Amino acid sequence: MAKQPMLKFVSLPKEMPQKRPPTLRKADFDEIYGEYAREKAAEQAGRCSQCGVPYCQSHCPLHNNIPDWLKLTAEGRLQEAYEISQATNTFPEICGRICPQDRLCEGNCVIEQSGHGTVTIGSVEKYITDTAWDQGWVKPGIPSVERAESVGIIGAGPGGLAAADMLRRAGLQVTVYDRYDRAGGLMTYGIPGFKLEKDVVMRRIQQLEDAGINFVVNCNVGETISFDAIRGKHDFVIIATGVYKSRDLNAPGVGADGIVRAIDYLTASNRKSFGDEVPEFDSGELNAKDKRIVVIGGGDTAMDCVRTAIRQGASSVKCLYRRDKANMPGSQREVANAEEEGVDFVWLSAPKGFAGDKVEGVMVQKMRLGQPDATGRQSPEVIEGADYVEGADMVIKALGFEPEDLPTLWGAPELEVTRWGTIKANFRTHETQIPDVYAVGDIVRGASLVVWAIRDGREAAEAILEKLAVSGAVAAE
Ligand SMILES: Cc1cc2nc3c(=O)[nH]c(=O)nc-3n(C[C@H](O)[C@H](O)[C@H](O)COP(=O)(O)OP(=O)(O)OC[C@H]3O[C@@H](n4cnc5c(N)ncnc54)[C@H](O)[C@@H]3O)c2cc1C
Ligand code: SF4
Repeated sequence: MAKQPMLKFVSLPKEMPQKRPPTLRKADFDEIYGEYAREKAAEQAGRCSQCGVPYCQSHCPLHNNIPDWLKLTAEGRLQEAYEISQATNTFPEICGRICPQDRLCEGNCVIEQSGHGTVTIGSVEKYITDTAWDQGWVKPGIPSVERAESVGIIGAGPGGLAAADMLRRAGLQVTVYDRYDRAGGLMTYGIPGFKLEKDVVMRRIQQLEDAGINFVVNCNVGETISFDAIRGKHDFVIIATGVYKSRDLNAPGVGADGIVRAIDYLTASNRKSFGDEVPEFDSGELNAKDKRIVVIGGGDTAMDCVRTAIRQGASSVKCLYRRDKANMPGSQREVANAEEEGVDFVWLSAPKGFAGDKVEGVMVQKMRLGQPDATGRQSPEVIEGADYVEGADMVIKALGFEPEDLPTLWGAPELEVTRWGTIKANFRTHETQIPDVYAVGDIVRGASLVVWAIRDGREAAEAILEKLAVSGAVAAE
């Protein structure tokens, strides 16, 4: 292989300029996210200028030591690169696949900022850890000493699992409860397989089981077992339940057949990819094949729905969003992918109502952007007289998620929540107002990202271990 020259000199901006919208096209995306050859990874890693002001690292929620593992990858020292990468990230191969890098590490790479195109940090991270799995370097965290203290974790998403991994490695007895039949949270049933392959998630769950973590699935806390009972069983409890209450529309006809929630649609599709029997999919209720699909919303969940519908063979896929492209909340990279795949975006459009007992169309109101509101964002305003009907056989509502009312559902009024319903927890330790009860991930932050849930889970685990050390339990090792 011809050795690629290392890019040594970049002109550093005095101040970080405003982020430009990323310009990645699908071809770039495929190159980055497709099968990554060793040469490609080394070539990309070698492009890192080792600038000494690692904005990439400071903009990674886990503060991954990116420059060091890029350097080691460029030198072919992959096992060392893996050791450094996994020291700060519980699931590096997952973050490498699904972090919105354009908003995090890569968007802040100085090479990107100086106009030469980012080092594809996420892809290299994925490559390093996939190689580590292939080579058998990834080992279950079996502790050398068992401890008596036990932790009950409610929710087997990335937040709960990251905490479980750290606590188990330290020897604690860890039980994870989840109401689904499989662990993984939204990594298993929310995020589509074309972004995050399910075997990649399942091998991690297996590894956690191999380390001695006990999983209790099909266990809905608040129904199958009470919150108090969980507290009674364990010395510490971590709440990592995510946010699952779908925001709804208040429009005439919204109850018609064929109008479905994004989470139901994506869960059915993911279940199907596991080979499960999914009657709602087989009946066509949650299957886009040969249908005119309209997705309402402009976030990443909407992008997952439109791209899933394309893959299921929809006859057309339209995405309705009430603002314009520049103001979409979703990742621009995801929008570009969806456009490349044939999704038709209908900007500045909002649903006014729905036609048919079985949905036949969406009554669309055209909008324009008016004066900025208190947050500085331009508010959409209706253009009178410009309504029309967009034909649809299936409408998917992807309007975001809110927390369930846990204090009521769990009969635990002492569990304090914010006015948005998210759990109040200490910013650093993640301990709630109830001593020894912690909360992490989306249930604290609101709908967020896998990488932030991992960070929270790791920090809560560290805080528990710190508490044990202060009380003398860990120091006794
Ligand atoms: C469609 C979709 C696509 C996304 N794509 C991305 C992406 O590409 N990149 C990214 O970084 N983030 C993405 N996200 C966001 C990301 O998935 C979440 O931020 C992350 O999973 C939150 O982790 P968590 O551990 O807090 O909760 P979750 O992953 O939601 O896990 C919570 C778990 O708690 C369980 N649970 C809830 N209530 C109970 C109860 N009462 N009893 C027992 N168990 C319970 C649930 O079954 C679930 O398994 C996406 C989200 C969605 C919806
Ligand atoms: S965890 Fe996410 S933000 Fe951090 S380096 Fe990896 S891909 Fe970038």
